[in-house]
Amino acid sequence: MSVILAADIGGTTCKLGIFDKHLQLLEKWQVNTDIANNGENILTDIHESFMAKEREVGFSVRESLGAGIGAPGPVNFKDGVLNGGINLNWEGRIPIASRFEKLSGVSTIVDNDANLAALGEQSKGAGHGHADAAMLTLGTGVGGGIVSDGMLIHGFGGAAGEIGHIMVDFKQRFSCNCGKKGCLETVASATGIVNIAEFKHRHENIETKLADQIEHGTITSKTLMEAAEEGDALAVSTVNEASHYIAIAISSISAVTNPGYIILGGGVSAAGQFLIDRIEKYYRPVTFPPASEGVEIVTAELGNDAGMYGAAKLVKQYLIQ
Ligand SMILES: [Zn+2]
Repeated sequence: MSVILAADIGGTTCKLGIFDKHLQLLEKWQVNTDIANNGENILTDIHESFMAKEREVGFSVRESLGAGIGAPGPVNFKDGVLNGGINLNWEGRIPIASRFEKLSGVSTIVDNDANLAALGEQSKGAGHGHADAAMLTLGTGVGGGIVSDGMLIHGFGGAAGEIGHIMVDFKQRFSCNCGKKGCLETVASATGIVNIAEFKHRHENIETKLADQIEHGTITSKTLMEAAEEGDALAVSTVNEASHYIAIAISSISAVTNPGYIILGGGVSAAGQFLIDRIEKYYRPVTFPPASEGVEIVTAELGNDAGMYGAAKLVKQYLIQ
């Protein structure tokens, strides 16, 4: 049986899967990510886990159609090199593709994990195979990926689709992990939503039952979302502001690649329709009408499997003739 190998490397676990050439998931499992010794065992562990599955399931790793790997951090898509993977203790340039090829004897393609989640959702999840889709992963940070005409866009330096770093807070109140200020990530990630709530509590006199948690630094975006759904004034105001920023960012994307589906993933998107309704309210009035017509804002459907699906899709697009 000829299969596609897919791996999505995360800071605590690596999600592994094998797919047939029609992108049907045949088997999935996960291994712990061993970040000891500068993460030098990570790729070997992945390879060994595929080899163990080979015997168990009955396929040949060496004869597989290709391997797709997602990694957290900036990836040079052309040569499969990760440039610094902080979560994995990987320093400097890590040539993931060539290392995995050497271990496995299988052609390997590598991309950023958020890009692969976008490709997975576009092709097999909430994008329903629509050729143009964008995804925002609203988690601890804000990841992004844009699929245009069925293909992920990478850009000149590989930074295309980094939606989390579109500048939306012109007051530039909060610092971003990228070294700049005012990025979408600083106002729409789980941490970003807390940033807004703390700022509002300090500078605006809005009633809230969450004052203690905000003052003690124990407030979470989940608590804020739930309080907003229950009508807490400060929480509602916070979610509205975050939604406004998300709307501005996706309005800009709409004018650039005009995605038909805008897919929201990550922990913050668990708020579902409550969040989408708010984003819609700000998005429609500010977006170039032909770029927003028929556009659907939806929540992701594949959960933690999205990156694996994207990795398999990438193999199909680039490595299978
Ligand atoms: Zn940034």
